[in-house]
Amino acid sequence: MNLTLDEIQNFKGKYPKQIWGLFFSEMWERFCFYGMRGMLTFFIAHVLLENSVLKIAEKNETANLQYGAIQAFVYAFTFLGGMLADKILGFRKSLFWGGILMIAGSIILSINPHDFFFFGISFTVVGTGFFKPNISTMVGKLYKSGDSRTDAGFSLFYAGINLGALIGGYVCIAIGKGEMFSKYIPENLRWNIAFSLAAFVMVISLINFLFTQRKLGTIGLQPGHPLSENPETKISKWKEYAVYAGTFALIPLIQIMVHKTQYTDYFMAVIGPLTLIYFFYEMMKVSTSERKKLLAALVFILFSILFWGIYEQSGGSLSIFAANNLNKDLFGLDPNGVNNSGGSFFIIFLAPLLGLLWIWLGKRKIEPNTVVKFGLGFLFLGMGYYVLFATKFFANLQGVTSLNIFTIALLVITFGELCLSPIGLSIMTKLSTKNLQGMMMGMWFLASAYGQYVAGKIGAGMAKVEDGATNYDALITYADGYKQLGLYALIAGIILILISPIIKKLMQEVR
Ligand code: GLN
Repeated sequence: MNLTLDEIQNFKGKYPKQIWGLFFSEMWERFCFYGMRGMLTFFIAHVLLENSVLKIAEKNETANLQYGAIQAFVYAFTFLGGMLADKILGFRKSLFWGGILMIAGSIILSINPHDFFFFGISFTVVGTGFFKPNISTMVGKLYKSGDSRTDAGFSLFYAGINLGALIGGYVCIAIGKGEMFSKYIPENLRWNIAFSLAAFVMVISLINFLFTQRKLGTIGLQPGHPLSENPETKISKWKEYAVYAGTFALIPLIQIMVHKTQYTDYFMAVIGPLTLIYFFYEMMKVSTSERKKLLAALVFILFSILFWGIYEQSGGSLSIFAANNLNKDLFGLDPNGVNNSGGSFFIIFLAPLLGLLWIWLGKRKIEPNTVVKFGLGFLFLGMGYYVLFATKFFANLQGVTSLNIFTIALLVITFGELCLSPIGLSIMTKLSTKNLQGMMMGMWFLASAYGQYVAGKIGAGMAKVEDGATNYDALITYADGYKQLGLYALIAGIILILISPIIKKLMQEVR
């Protein structure tokens, strides 16, 4: 079926039908990704370092740092993946290449997670870089510019992200820890099975995309393809092969850098400034009006670094907090599983409701603009972290506190996420010029990379104070740390709301 772009974009109803295909591919990819992510810190601290001479606090610190490094690299490569899609591969081929690498990574991990841990993870890191930004950009391509249904589309897509994250985030670690299917899986194979599940679902994601792409018309074709948006840009085959070969050359480098986290520091110190230079270089080539929009996009990107730095404690310090300081007073559920999946669970229900709220407010002409929504995102995040702080008032003398209160914090934080994250994806596609879409989406995720990186540092800082302390002292340290983070979030939210008129001017007609 050869649909034209117009036929796709002039769809009737609320959603373009192609969005469901992208929804499911992304859902399975996020299952794979969050399944792996949910296992990282725990696996490093409890399995990889099991027989090491390090003290528990040192193990936790190492796990946090390595977790932060892995996450930082995952999102840093989205910039490269987005840019290479714009310039060489096109969105579809990038997505496929990324998916294949993710499958390879998960298979390596499932064969021998103990010895090949960092090797396997490196495949997943680059693979996600090729997959993640480009599927999000394709969602934006389903809409004409100015179509007011775009945000609703991204909200739906975001629900798909979280459906995958929810199931993957809970199931994989539960299998690994032996909390699920332990009767059927021999103890020594638990982690292998958990990682192979990630590989299996990624295969489903790619098969699903094979069917979806038939209905995508010209969207995502390689530049230079006669039907693509840039048919005159001829891409020689060797460039494409160089990308594939370059990917393999990167793997050993990433492996070293995530293992020895001090290299990540150098990498992060270099990649951000380089990206900005490249961004400003591209900015010089566009019109003044386009330049203002790119500048507005940059403000969103910079603020999101702080957001993710605080938010992403969930995979690092909060994962250790969940393992040591939470009881099971929420239906007997595993606290780590709840920590990994609770946010996603709420999003699946809240995303459509919040979408309706925006429409309701929009009809009354009081819908907050994107900048104010971002500000609200920070305010909710801040309040959520104050609730995390409050868990200390419910602790017993062993330093164990209520999973219920913790879950309320997750709920509040999730409201914040919904005001910022899907809106951020959508605004990137709206503010980017046509041939910088992949790069801008990559930059949006690069901000997450910095966020993850900062998150790892903050988490490691908190774990360090734990040294020699009792479980109760550790709880107090974590809780006080969360209070501090909550305050930063509140301040950022207020600043954003105050400067919103200026950013709105830069955005011009974009809402
Ligand atoms: N949770 C969202 C996702 O997985 C956002 C991630 C991010 O940008 N840091 O897509």
